[in-house]
Amino acid sequence: MEYTNKVLDHFRNPRNVGELEDANAVGKVGSPSCGDKMEMYLKIEEGIIKEAKFMTFGCAAAISSSSVATELLKGMRVEEALQLTNQRVVEELGGLPEAKIHCSVMVEEAVQAALEDYEQRKKQEII
Ligand SMILES: [Zn+2]
Repeated sequence: MEYTNKVLDHFRNPRNVGELEDANAVGKVGSPSCGDKMEMYLKIEEGIIKEAKFMTFGCAAAISSSSVATELLKGMRVEEALQLTNQRVVEELGGLPEAKIHCSVMVEEAVQAALEDYEQRKKQEII
């Protein structure tokens, strides 16, 4: 299977790239198998994700998955974001080659890590 047009579009023009300075949820993960690294930054206010940005060093699948994920995450409630699976991301991309599915799994992990970070900060009343 080739990359879909949507994958190529998000790879060439990734949305929401960069570091979010006032993020209150940050998740950083890496995939040793293909060397991808992903950082997910979220700004959460009253349980709603107001802003989402990412920095991904990796293949086309990793970059396009991160890009559509930030679009999906904006406006989502934290509870919804916790349910965001890599399948949902792949679906949004119109599919990924089998060998590249694991790159989308990393997005799910980055989002989960960011939301965990948010919970920790809440507990410590940093936010
Ligand atoms: Zn990859």
